[in-house]
Formats: sequence, structure tokens, C-alpha cells
Amino acid sequence: MNAPSETLFFQSETPFIQLSQPFVEKVTTQPLPQPYWITWNSRLAQSLHLSLTPTHQWLNVCAGHIDQAWCSVYSGHQFGVWAGQLGDGRAHLLGSVQGAQGHPLEIQIKGAGLTPFSRMGDGRAVLRSSIREYLASEAMAALHIPTTRALALVGSNLTVRRERLETAAVLTRLAPSFIRFGHLEHFAHRGRMAELVKLLDFVIQHHYPQVLDSDTPYIDLFEQIVSHTARLMAQWQAVGFCHGVMNTDNMSVLGITLDYGPFGFLDHFDWQHRCNHTDQQGRYAYDQQPQAGYWNCAALASAFWPLIADENLLADRLERFHERYQWSYLQLFRKKLGLRQEQKDDATLIKDLLDSLHAHQVDFTLFFRLLSDLTLARPELDSSLFAPLNRSISLFNLWLARYRQRLHQEESIDHLRQPQMKRTNPRFILRNYLAQQAIEQSMEGDFTMVKELKSVLDTPFDEHPEHEDWAALPPSWASEISVSCSS
Ligand code: AMP
Ligand code: MG
Repeated sequence: MNAPSETLFFQSETPFIQLSQPFVEKVTTQPLPQPYWITWNSRLAQSLHLSLTPTHQWLNVCAGHIDQAWCSVYSGHQFGVWAGQLGDGRAHLLGSVQGAQGHPLEIQIKGAGLTPFSRMGDGRAVLRSSIREYLASEAMAALHIPTTRALALVGSNLTVRRERLETAAVLTRLAPSFIRFGHLEHFAHRGRMAELVKLLDFVIQHHYPQVLDSDTPYIDLFEQIVSHTARLMAQWQAVGFCHGVMNTDNMSVLGITLDYGPFGFLDHFDWQHRCNHTDQQGRYAYDQQPQAGYWNCAALASAFWPLIADENLLADRLERFHERYQWSYLQLFRKKLGLRQEQKDDATLIKDLLDSLHAHQVDFTLFFRLLSDLTLARPELDSSLFAPLNRSISLFNLWLARYRQRLHQEESIDHLRQPQMKRTNPRFILRNYLAQQAIEQSMEGDFTMVKELKSVLDTPFDEHPEHEDWAALPPSWASEISVSCSS
């Protein structure tokens, strides 16, 4: 079919496509046969002035019916080991749309067939993982965490083999750029300096113009990426998000959450929580994420190395990760606790709380949401307040007494602190079991839950009384769900 690209989005004006070879290759797609709508994100579409309703034109595009598409080459470190060339094995870049802030957003479809970088893969994505990415990326956006966005989800009866036979889907996702650490590593590792410089200049020009006039643009760019990554790690920790596959090919140079695979949000708080069951060493466990983010920045530093005369300068900028992470982490957790002032013992107050949540397997999201309703002068109300946690309040008495004292010190006022905390501590997150239920219903051809869940997760700080059960403790079978890399 003829691409309706002129009317729907721009191809020739997409800067990354203009970069051309060897960065991007023109490819053809293998559209999903007999595609049908699973869902169209009309909320996102509206903010981008795209069609409010799912049109036939978009169905075709989102299924891969397009004359031209592009994919890009990257490499990366996977689980700490250099993996060599990877690349867009099942993601096709179509072009771009005008973003809400005036900056273009690239459109990728994921699962529309083989590319030159598919290696052993089939170029497809299964319905299960596509639903998870759709819901998670939109949930993260609503939690104000930088992320790729999801515009549409299209299904088909085409079968694909994973551990078992499943059906295929295509996710349409958007981002200002999908450039990964691995894109830079690719050219650096091969000693292709002219291309590395071209790519770095591209990233600066289009995504970090603030360093354009610097005397040391590459060092400053590196520092920006380190800083954005550190901030993102703190945001993940504060909302209990585990990525699961933090390889350098899944790390965005913009510091946005990218490539949702075996991710998971914490139910009960567990420092060592592993959402990816193939990660046997726990390299990407919850408490390892900041360190993994730093490690990835160190790997990225090697890509900058040949261009920087003073290696100490690069090492110095890398080390700023820790300070930036710690600052963001404390800032986010202070906000979660409704603290306006900074005090030197705050880190201990936070750590002691989390240790206690860990020791008693307390639900992370629910705890902070209930804490948002704490009445400063009425400790006797605590036991009914925290009753939904299904834990004895005596476990927290000591900590709550310290917390109250801390609130008193800054003369905290209930009716000001409570709403602010409720805008910070979500009532709804994409719990694994909810995603699972939505997937199981979708496999039966019923997409209602995908849409309803998405709509609740769009405003996760609101009450949504009709979906009260989604905010409650997860059912006991939730901990049995096992998520692997297969997608
Ligand atoms: P991931 O672990 O999903 O980040 O993927 C790592 C690499 O494998 C990337 O180059 C992907 O494009 C590629 N890949 C993953 N799944 C497939 C698939 N089904 N077909 C082709 N390439 C894939
Ligand atoms: Mg990936």
C-alpha cells in the first residue's frame, strides 16, 4: 500500500533518517497479516494533534504497511560482557511527528518483521510483551518518569514461537530519539572515529544544544548523559520500578526509560527483588540498579575516551554520577515523605524505613499512599490507617514516632502535606498481576482491561473508587508470576 506518510507523519524531515548510512539503513517491513486494533492511545494522540479515533489509515501504518522504514545499528554490553553488534532487530523507524513541546518525536514500530540486525530473531513481538510495554511506558509517563511513549497496539492471528506458540502484535512507540549508549559504543569499539564524532555532534545538536557552545562539548555531553541517567535511576528507585535488562543497548542517551522487557514494579519492598528470572546473579536486582546505571556510564566513558585528551576530566565527570544520584534520590524520597526541609539525618530516616519495609515484606506503593493520610497529632489513628497493609502497626511505631518528630520540627501541616504527598505517592502502579490479567483477557480477544487499566494508570494519583481492588494488596498468586526475557 502507498504510505500515507505525508498526511500522518514526516519521513524526509526526520533528522535521524537524514543522517543516513552507516547510522540508519533503509529497510522494508513485513506487515502483520490481517491486523486488528487492540488499542489506540487517544490521550497521547490528542496531545500530538493526531487522530482522536483509531483510523484505518493508522491501523495499516501501525501494522507495518509502509513503503519505507529505517533501522539503526548499535552494539552493547550485555550483563557486563561486550556483546558486539546488535541493532534494531525488530524495530522500524517510520519518521516523526511534532511533539507537544514543539520538538519532533520519532515513531518506531516494534515487531514488523526482520531487519539486517535481526540475527537469530524473527523480527516479531508477542502480544504478551507488547501489552506490557504499552501499559508500562504510559504508566511511567503518568508518574512523571522520562520514558518512551506508546501510541498504539495492533494484533494479528499470526503465530510466533517463544517458549510456546503465541500471537504477534506490533507496538507503535515514540521518543525524541531512540539512540542508545550502544550506538556510541558501536562506532568507538570499531575505531570509526569520524562516524563517532558525527553521531556525537548529532546528539548534541538535536538533544543537548546547551553544550553546543562549550569549549569541551564532548566532555559536557558525557556529563549531561551521566546526570540524566543518575536522575532516572533515582526516579526508578523512588517508584519501585525494576527494569530487568539494564544492558548498555537498552540505555538511552537521553536518560529515558527504554525497552520494556521483563520489568516489574515492586509489590512488597525487597531490596534484592529480581524481576527478570533469567538474571540469576541478580545483576539488575532492585538495589543494584543505581550501580548498574553507573557501570553503564563507565562503559559509555570508554566510547568517549579516544576523543578526550584529558582522561582525568572524563573520570571526574563520571564520578559525578554518585552525587547526582544521591541528591535526586533524597529529593524524591523527601517528597514521598512530605518533608519540605533538608536535614542531615534524612538519609538514615529513609534507609531505616525501607529496611523495615523489607524485613516485614510490606507493600511499597500502598505504604507510602497510606502514609500520605497520616494525622500528625493523632498516633492513635495509625492502626486503622495502616490496616490495609495487613501488618501489625507495632512494627512501625518506633519509626513513625521519629517521623512525627521530624514533621513537628518543620511545623508540617496535615492539610498541606497530605495532598502534596498524594500527588507524589501513586495509588495505582502497573502491578505484575494486573498486567497478567489484562494479557490473559486479551489472549481471549477481550481488550477491555488493557483499556481500563491504561485509563486508571493515566491518572495514578487519583482515587478511582470503581477500581479500588487494583490499589489493594496483590493476591497471593501474584508472587508466583515469572517473567523472562522472552518477548
Ligand atoms: P533486548 O534484549 O530485547 O533488548 O534485545 C537485544 C537485541 O536482540 C536487540 O538487538 C533486539 O533488536 C534483538 N531482538 C530481540 N528480540 C528479537 C526478535 N524477536 N527478532 C529480532 N531481533 C530481536
Ligand atoms: Mg533492547
